Amino acid sequence: MSQINLGIIGGGQLGSMLSMAAKKLNIKTIIYSDDNEAPAQNFCDQFIFGEYFNKNRIMEFINKVDVITYEFENIPYETLNEMNKLKPVLPKPSVNRLIQHRLAEKDFINKLNIRTTRYISIEKKSDINTLEDFLPGILKTTTMGYDGKGQYPIKTINDLNSLNIDFSKGYILEKLVKLKKEISVIITRFGNKSFEIYEPIENTHEEQILKHSKIPAEIDKKIQDQSKEWAISLAEELKYIGTLCVEFFIDRNENLYVNEIAPRVHNSGHLTINAFNISQFENHIRAVCSLKKIPLKKISNAKMINLIGDQILPYRENFKLNNNEFFFDYLKKEIKEKRKMGHITTLI
Ligand code: ADP
Ligand code: MG
Repeated sequence: MSQINLGIIGGGQLGSMLSMAAKKLNIKTIIYSDDNEAPAQNFCDQFIFGEYFNKNRIMEFINKVDVITYEFENIPYETLNEMNKLKPVLPKPSVNRLIQHRLAEKDFINKLNIRTTRYISIEKKSDINTLEDFLPGILKTTTMGYDGKGQYPIKTINDLNSLNIDFSKGYILEKLVKLKKEISVIITRFGNKSFEIYEPIENTHEEQILKHSKIPAEIDKKIQDQSKEWAISLAEELKYIGTLCVEFFIDRNENLYVNEIAPRVHNSGHLTINAFNISQFENHIRAVCSLKKIPLKKISNAKMINLIGDQILPYRENFKLNNNEFFFDYLKKEIKEKRKMGHITTLI
């Protein structure tokens, strides 16, 4: 087959890892990002810097690629839709539009009779007065949230009054789940009933940011089967092409809830690079570039630790790794508090 040029929108660490996986498959990557310092430019073949509404830069990008995918979900729908008229965008733009809106996403999941947390749409401050039933809860912006950004814990109505929230944006209020555990299921769908699914991954968050992931997840068989079944239904219903991650909550009574869907490769799946024959990144590329689906084989149990902010520093200084440890530095120019700077996966 002739050379494939894959366009990737977004230049963060997920874009870097997609580029590395593409290289292995002899696919060229062209990244488009609105961040001049995007770390993925260190890993891709070509990098185009431009805003998501810059028609000229976007045309330049489209002309260079055969197929387009994305590594984060907050891309304007119009941009994806316009691109899709000229080159295929996968997963398709309508999937992204649905999932980037927390309310639309949760309504969609509930329509499939899949449980989510209880939630209600909030459009103005007065809406919140009748919401005792949803407290304690978390107020979340309906769009543009990630790593806990745009989220406010609300214990009582008074908490809301003391917060300076910009109600020109939409919000949902979600009832707080008494968490026992969080897990995620990553699935790559290639077409009708054709997919590869990874075993559930157990995740621990600190300050709403993922800190640790591990396989196997310590969960019972029922939860394991249910979470995979739900991930398959969601991917099928969306007619999804590529890798998708479903984040779940398990409460203290062993009830399973879908927290959210990520229409992309996911941080909790970094361990798939070392723990499986095919990583979530390679699978994503195989699916969006119509390459062969290869049966997944697990190589090892594993755990992954995110290095956040200056936790990266000791690892950068000649840190001695054992041969079951794999360190990844995202090469971000600036260390910032709460910024994911790298990760380390250990096979166990
Ligand atoms: P993001 O888009 O930033 O990943 P999430 O909705 O996944 O936002 O929230 C991040 C983390 O915050 C979750 O993984 C979980 O640890 C905690 N959290 C969010 N919503 C709830 C909830 N309703 N109940 C309990 N914990 C929650
Ligand atoms: Mg999340």
